[in-house]
Amino acid sequence: MKAGVIGSGIGGLATAIRLAKLGYKVKIFEKNSYAGGKLSEINTASGYRFDTGPSLLTLPNLINELFENLPQDAPKVPKIIQLDNNCRYFFRPNHFFDFFHNEDCLKKEVELKTKESFENIKNRLSISKEMYELAAPMFLFHSLHKKETFLAEEHRSLLFKMHKLNFLKTMHTANKNDFADEDIIKIFDRYATYNGSNPYKAPATLNMIAHLENNIGAFLPEKGMYQIIKSLVELAHYLGVEFLYDTTIDQIVVEDKKAVALNYKDKTEPFDVIISDADAKFVSRHLIRHPLKKRLEKQESSTSAVIFYWGIKTKRKDLDVHNIMFAEDYNKEFDSLFKAKELYHDPTVYIYVSSKLNPNDAPEGCENWFVMVNAPSVGDVIDKERITVIKKQIIDKINRFLQMDVEPLIDFEEIATPGTIEDITNSQGGALYGPSSNSVFSAFLRHPNFIKKIANLYFVGGSVHPGGGIPLCLASAQIVANEINGKKNN
Ligand code: FAD
Repeated sequence: MKAGVIGSGIGGLATAIRLAKLGYKVKIFEKNSYAGGKLSEINTASGYRFDTGPSLLTLPNLINELFENLPQDAPKVPKIIQLDNNCRYFFRPNHFFDFFHNEDCLKKEVELKTKESFENIKNRLSISKEMYELAAPMFLFHSLHKKETFLAEEHRSLLFKMHKLNFLKTMHTANKNDFADEDIIKIFDRYATYNGSNPYKAPATLNMIAHLENNIGAFLPEKGMYQIIKSLVELAHYLGVEFLYDTTIDQIVVEDKKAVALNYKDKTEPFDVIISDADAKFVSRHLIRHPLKKRLEKQESSTSAVIFYWGIKTKRKDLDVHNIMFAEDYNKEFDSLFKAKELYHDPTVYIYVSSKLNPNDAPEGCENWFVMVNAPSVGDVIDKERITVIKKQIIDKINRFLQMDVEPLIDFEEIATPGTIEDITNSQGGALYGPSSNSVFSAFLRHPNFIKKIANLYFVGGSVHPGGGIPLCLASAQIVANEINGKKNN
């Protein structure tokens, strides 16, 4: 049986690996000259290395799984390290809070630096854990578009505990109810951005995200995030998967309500199953006559980003691997992103410094700063002029928060915008996570992993069920491989 995969993002790679393990002859078509899509890297002549997209890894077990049950000589899973400090949060100049993984360290930090009771935080993390454990088996690891999912014995108990998922409140309302300290509320609100959503709109169910980072842990491969892709490509090669780089799929050929072939470079190649890892909205606009096109066009997109990859000629003791400098008025920042669809003048600035963990990522005495702000997913509407303005706003903020003068220390610069993210990945408007999860119904309205009107066509990756972010893309690959395997065995 032959499987054709469109796109070598993490979802496409994981699906290819799972299908190759099931005995499929798999071909991946990738329009770029390298694998990874949003998960990529920059290596500079002067010795800096930057991960270009994701920087935070949660649920690494979903990567480990792909390397299981293989012969001794198979490639091994990359070394993945758990961080002691999940994130350093700056709220104002000279004031930061470390969200340590270790409970005693976290307790001391909470008591020393916030007005919050540690019990409240512990309590919340145990509620997040309970929500995740209740919801994940059905909502993350099964299709929501099959009645069997809802009838399955193991999911039935959830139907009687739905209220525990707190979907009638927003994340922010729940956080405001449960915490006294404004800084702590901001920290917990920010988890909405892990799938590009707005905490003032997204259902409190998403508060389960805090469990992944804080109870289970924040992880980083020893050699950086792109090591995940390199290892998956190596594993795919080992399993006989064929890669066609610089190869754009122009059309999915559908005959008699069945996807039967892929068109590329004026060729038509037949496949038994076709899996798209490309953005679902892109597919509906360009690759097939899509029965869900109208619905997809109406969906609100998740946020995009503006990122500055800066080589910095110094080392800062006051920064950790992950650092956040919050906007003073967080609500207004989200209004700007989702209502006005504009960059905010006092943005929350995220700085990721992988060289803190892996010194090889920067020359001696230097650091590799990945400096990101959230942006509306409006593609190249955010032009050069606006980038110049936001760069100044970011630099002013870093200077104020860290009491430094950052500009003369910038040794290397590359910039990603919603427009460049869209160009590189075909993600419409440069959205990082497909549609937003700003509504109670988002989980049900997300593009399904298959469409009943077109057989043999499957969808994985961040724009489809169960959602964006590495763990959910890996979950989508699991759902699709199980679905294809189930059909093969019937
Ligand atoms: P994508 O990465 O979207 O790749 C799709 C691939 O398909 C691309 O390689 C593209 O070139 C190819 N393609 C598209 N159309 C065609 C075609 N017609 N023919 C051939 N090839 C085609 N997630 C986290 O878990 N943690 C984070 O910290 C995090 N931070 C992020 C920061 C940024 C800046 C970005 C951009 C994303 C971030 N994410 C994060 C989200 C995460 O990167 C994505 O959810 C995930 O990588 C998406 O994978 P995917 O499988 O959907 O494929």
